[in-house]
Amino acid sequence: MIEIGGLQKITLIDFPGRVAATVFLIGCNFRCPFCYSAELVLPEKIKLQPRISEKDFFDFLKKRKKLLEGMVICGGEPTIHNELPDFIKKIKKLSYLVKLDTNGSNPELLKELINNKLIDYVAMDIKAPMGAKAQSSKFKTQSYDKAAGVKVDLNKIRKSIEIIKDSGIDYEFRTTVVPTVHTKEDIIQIAKEISPAKKFFLQNFRAEKTINPEFEKIKPYSKDLLLAIKEEISKFFDVCQVRG
Ligand code: SF4
Repeated sequence: MIEIGGLQKITLIDFPGRVAATVFLIGCNFRCPFCYSAELVLPEKIKLQPRISEKDFFDFLKKRKKLLEGMVICGGEPTIHNELPDFIKKIKKLSYLVKLDTNGSNPELLKELINNKLIDYVAMDIKAPMGAKAQSSKFKTQSYDKAAGVKVDLNKIRKSIEIIKDSGIDYEFRTTVVPTVHTKEDIIQIAKEISPAKKFFLQNFRAEKTINPEFEKIKPYSKDLLLAIKEEISKFFDVCQVRG
């Protein structure tokens, strides 16, 4: 049974072009030190997080059918749940469009969802540069691990990027830009590695409620710096914007 740890009943910004709600699933296989969702990620906080039953969730969806067009599924990391396809099937049965937010660590499940037409939009986080395909250098591997807070299989991340780009569905890549984790050059490197692609968003870090409390002391980069980076990398994408 999928565990639901939160529901935002309406959002005008999380599903591009759609009036949507967002469901937060419990659990994540990453530990990004700058993550704002400790209550969905850390076992000791998960224990304290109130749950929403599937019944209440689907009752809500049935009631809101006329008002909402889409459902955003985020976490935590939704693709750690094997029950995700069945969960989404039930949402789609009610005629909702579905957007999936993912860290890209489960390309197999991602492919299954896309092949079975269960998702209409996917947003994937790119945590750090990955390094060249053939020779992922130790340095770059470490930089992804540092950003994700765990050892990451970069081949899975690369595979997810390719699956998404080849999927034919609408998508975006996005990076939360965090001082001490990313330099300007890192972001440019990420852009080169994922390009060409449809959309890439740079999200400014907010120093609040982070998994690693030390990150609450970090001053975010200025918006001007992010805009300057955006100017340099826009050529790689159809759409490239700064958020936050
Ligand atoms: S930011 Fe990182 S730790 Fe937090 S939910 Fe996303 S992938 Fe998991």
